[in-house]
Amino acid sequence: MTELQKKIGASVLVVLALGLLVRMVYRSMGHEATPNDTRTLMDSETGELFECPIEKLKPYPMLNAKTGKDTMYRTEVCYWGEDCRKAGGTHVIMNELLGKEGPTYCPVCGHVVRFLNPRPPDYRPGGD
Ligand SMILES: [Zn+2]
Repeated sequence: MTELQKKIGASVLVVLALGLLVRMVYRSMGHEATPNDTRTLMDSETGELFECPIEKLKPYPMLNAKTGKDTMYRTEVCYWGEDCRKAGGTHVIMNELLGKEGPTYCPVCGHVVRFLNPRPPDYRPGGD
């Protein structure tokens, strides 16, 4: 085997290995996104909650197949009040999405709810 052939062989191996690596990373990323990635939606009229796979999300409001109305919105979750914590979070539709004026308040504890609503610094899921 000449020096050139060795070099060519080595670079082919490197390219193959890189290709494999890219595929593995790509697959693992795709895999993570598929099974459990859902978003909680709420019907603005009935208050019913639904889990929707992210790939099926459409511009809001989305159709509620049960009622036949476009009343489904994404929610923010409030963990600020005592009752909200105990319930594992209260789902709230933002006023902005509903076309209402003014800040959005949690209907349970009255705390102001923001987009990507932060959790209290001392909040521990499942804890007290
Ligand atoms: Zn609350």
